[in-house]
Amino acid sequence: MHEMALTQDIVAICERNAGGQPVSLVVVEIGKLSGVVPEAVVFCFEACSAGTLVAGARLHILPVAGKGRCLDCRHESPLERLFDPCRSCGSFRIQVLSGQAVRVREIEVVD
Ligand SMILES: [Zn+2]
Repeated sequence: MHEMALTQDIVAICERNAGGQPVSLVVVEIGKLSGVVPEAVVFCFEACSAGTLVAGARLHILPVAGKGRCLDCRHESPLERLFDPCRSCGSFRIQVLSGQAVRVREIEVVD
């Protein structure tokens, strides 16, 4: 299951940046084109964080909308899915500008 490995990575990143302190809040950006299901990450988070500095932390997920630029007509438009055609000219040569990444945006630690 993809989200389980991903959530383990998220927890590991948080631990590396926590300076040895317990983590109280984790904010994660999930791009709508990433193929990652936010609910699944929420589901995995408790299991993955058990026994780590992240155990008991709140998880806040920020969805990031997809956006692409057409390489033929330069039109920029929202992308609901990867491989959607350009809304202006119908070209499939779309450069994805945002919405593919998953990243830890911030963490809060207990002082
Ligand atoms: Zn176009």
